[in-house]
Amino acid sequence: MQLVTRAQWGAQPSRYELVYIASTQGVKIHYEGSYVPKSLADPDAHDACAGHMRDIQAAHLANTAEDYSDIAYNAVVCPHGAVFEGRGVHRRTAANGNQTLNTAHYAVCAMVGSSGLVQPTDAQLNGLVDAIEWMRSGGDAGSEVRGHRDGYATACPGDALYAWVQAGARRPDGTGPIGGSGDGTSGGTEIARYQVTINGLTYGYGASGDHVTKVGQALVAKGFGRHYEVGPGPTWSDADTRNYSDYQVSLGYSGTAAHQDADGVPGAVTLEQLLGYLPGSTSTTAVPPFPGRSAFVLGKSNPAVVRLDRALIRKGFTRHHDGNGYQAGPKFTQYTRKNVADFQRSVKALAGDPDGYPGPETWRRLLS
Ligand SMILES: [Zn+2]
Ligand SMILES: [Zn+2]
Repeated sequence: MQLVTRAQWGAQPSRYELVYIASTQGVKIHYEGSYVPKSLADPDAHDACAGHMRDIQAAHLANTAEDYSDIAYNAVVCPHGAVFEGRGVHRRTAANGNQTLNTAHYAVCAMVGSSGLVQPTDAQLNGLVDAIEWMRSGGDAGSEVRGHRDGYATACPGDALYAWVQAGARRPDGTGPIGGSGDGTSGGTEIARYQVTINGLTYGYGASGDHVTKVGQALVAKGFGRHYEVGPGPTWSDADTRNYSDYQVSLGYSGTAAHQDADGVPGAVTLEQLLGYLPGSTSTTAVPPFPGRSAFVLGKSNPAVVRLDRALIRKGFTRHHDGNGYQAGPKFTQYTRKNVADFQRSVKALAGDPDGYPGPETWRRLLS
């Protein structure tokens, strides 16, 4: 890496003390978003790059609305591939849009504009990868490489650089940053990227469907949503994996590397614990046989009541409970009976006798 330190490019001192940051999830890529002269990319124009860097810093320090402490970026890469030290590593950026986003990722900017010089040079792409690797080795950045526009309404980093980010942030020779881009499925990353199938439904990176959104929503509801910048949504992302991993750890599982118990890829046990039911089972397998009316006696326990409760929870008939929310359990209680009655009232064929005690027809319809 061809690093140009602050002293070397003639940086002004920071206006306020920069905020220390121990680590980030990765790096966000930016462009200048204004006119950058094409001549800056001339092979013999590198002497002008330090001055260009001083101009960016001066513009940021002059921005009274933002009241920046310093140049907003952690690093800036010139068209000749040199990496100019901005705030540097272990310092919180001010470029990503808000405090949360600034804490989540470092910011690396390319000297590329919205007009004039709009295409990054090959040397610059190499420099960007150098900068990403520096953020990782020197600043404990994670494997994600994103565009500023990911999770924030902006055109930055422009279409050319964004396409490059989406293609895996690779060097022109096709090699990616050490540890992978965190965006593609190729390249080694520490985050689990495999899928599992539970009851006919797929979970893990890249899996999609309504059931994925439901997992995300349940994680957020339980307080495990800190990795979401957007969403949760129907396509399983690294953020889903990270949040699920946090949830697994909270349950006492350990080991967050891929294929360890808390790697963020669901298992049937934690999934059922999270949702209160196991999705997919009753829609892909036959309804279990009716256990008989003797299984449902007020105040008595029977394993069939657990199944009944799960079906009630899955279908949303849970408004009667002891004050702590309706939970699946073996005992047939007043609450079970009242919730079953609610279900019966909701189905035309059963509404004539909503006594709350399941017969074969209530059982079949509730568990299907
Ligand atoms: Zn930006
Ligand atoms: Zn240069």
